[in-house]
This record gives sequence, structure tokens and C-alpha cells, in this order.
Amino acid sequence: MSSLIRLSKSCIAEPEKLAVMGVLDREFLGMGAEVQRFEQMLTEFFGRSTVCVVNGTTALQLALQACEIGPGDEVLVQSLTYVASFQAISATGARPVACDIENATLTLDWRDAEKRLTTKTKAIMPVHYSGGVGALNEMYAFARKHGLRVIEDAAHAFGSVYQGQRVGGFGDVACFSFDGIKNITSGEGGCVVTDDPDVLRRVQDARLLGVEKDTEKRYMGQRSWEFDVSAQGWRYHMSNMMAAIGMEQLKRFPEMASKRQRLANRYDELLCDHQNIQIRTQDYSAIVPHIYVVRIKNMPNRKLLQQRLLDLGIQTGIHYQPNHVLSFYSEVNALPLPITDSAFSELLSLPLHPDLTEDDVEFVCTTLKEVLCDFHTK
Ligand SMILES: *Cc1c(COP(=O)(O)O)cnc(C)c1O
Repeated sequence: MSSLIRLSKSCIAEPEKLAVMGVLDREFLGMGAEVQRFEQMLTEFFGRSTVCVVNGTTALQLALQACEIGPGDEVLVQSLTYVASFQAISATGARPVACDIENATLTLDWRDAEKRLTTKTKAIMPVHYSGGVGALNEMYAFARKHGLRVIEDAAHAFGSVYQGQRVGGFGDVACFSFDGIKNITSGEGGCVVTDDPDVLRRVQDARLLGVEKDTEKRYMGQRSWEFDVSAQGWRYHMSNMMAAIGMEQLKRFPEMASKRQRLANRYDELLCDHQNIQIRTQDYSAIVPHIYVVRIKNMPNRKLLQQRLLDLGIQTGIHYQPNHVLSFYSEVNALPLPITDSAFSELLSLPLHPDLTEDDVEFVCTTLKEVLCDFHTK
């Protein structure tokens, strides 16, 4: 194998390119007809209202802000997530409170979160790690009991199904990312999905600098010249170019989703009987995996392991370095996070994207086993 097997990548076909050219030809690049149609398609997909924004981080930030979470408030969130979840919380002025995870699913453990409740706790942000949602029903029961809003970080879980229902199609507020490597992309982008009319309206206004009802105007091809602003807004709307890509990706999603599922199943088959590789048993008939993560027991030096694999043409990743170790989010007196710390030291993400072949997956597995064997017999 000479060419690099990438950890993840955007998968773009001819329809996406034509759609972008169409927008360029019409010379209306901002937020208008394409964004409106993409939102309609997503609303049909989820079965509830959707607002598109410029990325997944801002979707989380605006969803929190729309739930009136801000300075002085605390939001429970798992430490094992991309820093985007934490930054979205701190961007509102609220404080992210790092929580531990369940060992099997690497998703937020509500029993641990319960220990970290204070009078300032206003919301909980479960992160749907690698596409699985963990014990989401129990999470909602916990949130109801303590009067918390639930803002789901569903960036990994576009298309996943939980107990027969599509993630985003139920619950309080769910936020998705359409960045270049997620299950679908709009070349950066994201959305907020909810049934709450206040949250919808606030996110619609806040993405356009707080200009009230500017969304309706733009969808009619008009502008707001005289208007009121009654809350802090941001320049966070989606552009027509992005939405044009997103719509074509959504049309191709069934095919891309089943490819991801097939490859993850193949990895499971090839790795399940190895003594030092622990696969994470997930049901890929329901989950559309964004990443494929294994846990390596007796982990050799991970940096060296990754370098060796890279030398052999395989790019790998670590999802994620926990956030409680970061200077900006470290807390002196916080309770420990033992599952997070021990899981982190074992994590390794293997290549997963729809352009990968089953042969690639077989090569990755064979090579990983050989390299691990080398490390352990040295
Ligand atoms: C990708 C991602 C985000 C943020 O999405 P962006 O579109 O990159 O801003 C948030 N949380 C998690 C877990 C992610 O993987």
C-alpha cells in the first residue's frame, strides 16, 4: 500500500460540486432559498423543526443561550468530548462542569453527574460519543427530576436511531455538526433541532445578530431595514453555498451511512478475538458511526504506536484528550474522573469514512495486530 489511509475525510461527489456552481452562477451566496430548503429537508428527516447555523459549536452555544443559560450557571458535560462542547458552554458565560462517563459506552454517566449538581446547575449536555447515545432515557429522567434542560451534543450521531426513534427527533434540544468529516457535511455547518418554539425563534434571531424576524425576510428574498434587537446576537447563519452542499449530502446519506455501518461491522469481526484490542460493542444497525474507536489493553507508548502505523500508511487518532486537563477548564477541587482517565489512556481511533474499502479495513487490522505484536515482544 503506497497511499495514506486517512483517519477521516470529506466525501464529495459530482452533485455537490454542481450544486455549489449553481449557487455561484445565481450570485446569491448568503442566506436565502438554499438554506430554507435545506432546513425543510432536515425538518422532514428529523420530524421536527430545524435551524441551520455556521457550525456545530455555534449550534450548541445558541441552543444554550436560547435556553437562557449564561453567567453564573453551570452545565454538566462529559470531560471526554471535543473541546467544542466546553467552548460552547463557556461562550455563554456559563461554567462547564466536567463529568465522568460510563465505561461501556463512553457516554455521560448521569449517576456521576448527580454528584456534581449544585444550585447553579441549569442544564446537562450528553455527548453522543461515536454515534451511540448511552442510557439516554435515564438521562432524561434524571434531568426531569432536577429541572435541567438537556442540550444533546449530537455532532457524532447524525442518522443514529435510539429505541426506534431518530436522534434529534425526540427530547429537548439536539445539536448537529456538518463539518467536513461528520456523517454529512455542508463544508462546515450545523443545526439545532427542537420542538420548543421559543428556542427556535431565539436561535433564528440570534444567528442573524439578533435582528428580529430577519429569517422570514431573507427567505422571501428581502432585507430588514428597520427592526428591533432585544438580545445578544451573533453572525452565525448558514450560507446558500453551504446549504447547497448539505442538501446533496443528505440525499446521498443512506448510501454513506450504510457504508460507515458496514465498515464498522467489518472492523468488529476482524478485531473481536484479539487479546489486547477491546472493541466497543455497538449495534450498527441503529448507530451510524462517526468514528471507530478501540481500546488497547497494555497500551505501548501510544505516540510511537501511532507513528509506526503512520509510517505504514495508516493515520489514526485519539478521541479525545479529556477537557478537565486543559488550563482553561481545570479545577482545583473537582471530584476525580477515574473512568475518563483510564479510558483515555487506552483509546485509539482507526480510519473510518465512506470512501474507505473493506480491503483498507483488512489492511488496517492486519497491520495494527502486527505492530502491537512487535511492541509486545520487544
Ligand atoms: C464536531 C464536533 C462539535 C462541533 O462541531 P463543529 O461543526 O466542528 O463546530 C461538537 N462536539 C463534538 C463532539 C464534535 O465532534
